[in-house]
Amino acid sequence: MLTLEEALGRVLAKVEALPAERVSLEQAYGRVLAQEVVSPRDNPPWDNSAMDGFAVRSEDLASQPTTLAVLETIPAGGMPTKALTEGTCSRIMTGAPMPDGADAVVMIEDTSAWGAARRSGDEVAITSDTVEIRASPAPRQHVRPRGDDVREGQLVLKPGHVMTPAAVGQLSSLGFPSAMVVQRPVVAVLSTGDEVVEAGWPLADGQIYSSNTHSLLGLIREAGGIGVHCGVAPDDPAGLRAALKRCMRADVILTTGGVSVGDFDFVKDVFSGDDAEVDAELDFWKVAIKPGKPLAFGSIGGRPAFGLPGNPVSCVVNFLQFVRPFLRKMMGLERLFLPVVEAELVSPLRKKPGRAHLVRVRLGLGSSGFTCASTGTQSSGVLGSLVEADGLALIPRESGGVPAGTRVRVQVLHLEWLHGLTPGFGWGETWTAPQAVAATPAAGDEGDEGDCC
Ligand code: AMP
Ligand code: MG
Repeated sequence: MLTLEEALGRVLAKVEALPAERVSLEQAYGRVLAQEVVSPRDNPPWDNSAMDGFAVRSEDLASQPTTLAVLETIPAGGMPTKALTEGTCSRIMTGAPMPDGADAVVMIEDTSAWGAARRSGDEVAITSDTVEIRASPAPRQHVRPRGDDVREGQLVLKPGHVMTPAAVGQLSSLGFPSAMVVQRPVVAVLSTGDEVVEAGWPLADGQIYSSNTHSLLGLIREAGGIGVHCGVAPDDPAGLRAALKRCMRADVILTTGGVSVGDFDFVKDVFSGDDAEVDAELDFWKVAIKPGKPLAFGSIGGRPAFGLPGNPVSCVVNFLQFVRPFLRKMMGLERLFLPVVEAELVSPLRKKPGRAHLVRVRLGLGSSGFTCASTGTQSSGVLGSLVEADGLALIPRESGGVPAGTRVRVQVLHLEWLHGLTPGFGWGETWTAPQAVAATPAAGDEGDEGDCC
């Protein structure tokens, strides 16, 4: 049986980034850039003021206070019309172009007697023709030079750049209304099983509501793909074939269920090429992990296809280990894998050597770093202990169990978990070490659940 790493290697060897498409800046956030961006301009386009104040000649202001004649007011969005000469200045707003002759800006707070009321006989006039300056600025003070951010011809963004809000803003600041980015994969989701019914429909005896379709649609969306709900296929070859036809136009096909060794597990037969009417190929079947052993990977109708197990936790865990990195590579991302932290186990974990265990854990922050504790029963059908989990702790394949206090590697499942509970920069302070769950191990927690998980 392939190890987790071997299976992941096989999966990733079969995927390349999708072609590029042009999208508007509104759609560019989070996408992977598929072009070089070279600046067509200097940004800012001219020397401009970093303050509301007065553009001055620094050499005029050796002594304080000095009164200067005000030539004009330059608003942001306007251009100066007068060059400064000795003893003159111009009122200037933040972002407005510097006038010729000026080499510094004095902020309004360092000036007085500008716009003061002046009485002349019976008339009171507001004068703005002179200003008293109470500062001696160094040359270039409060002046943002032309090209300070970006120079014309400069390589600003390279292919592969993940478009953060700042990167989208920079494209926008250079005047580009759109960008070439890697396409998002369309992912078909087909649940299978005569017992499986989508929520909202009535249940007959022996039937259960599906969890997998909606877990997968959420996971696909979180991974950046476009999920397509392709319904539930029955456990018969003809019905399965018809349902698979609905999936064929997607970039990737995901099925759930029917990949174990049961009498009605026809999805595995499709992958194995036993159904002559479906063009399919199997790359591998089964991985030495728990949960998630009966994964099938190959192609159906020429599309990469994952036959995920039906058990709800196995299905999600397999998606996270294999499909998520696959989709991220398709989207042109370089960092394919979930973030991993090292954490100290609060309670022991039992297991037999043979398969790597991916244990659902709650993470916490203790006095010496991260801690983790099992969220309870680790049965592959118990979605509740995955709902409670912040991460998956890896207990290696060859391990025969680990005592409390062992430092283990934990994949962080939800970036939500990294967000703070306290305002500002106090993010970790309210975390506490999680308590060990005194759960009775479900059948198979330390042994083998057979082929179904
Ligand atoms: P299978 O892999 O088809 O043998 O299914 C394994 C287990 O997963 C069985 O108990 C199924 O009822 C269950 N199962 C299969 N598909 C789903 C689904 N979409 N949602 C929830 N449970 C499922
Ligand atoms: Mg089934």
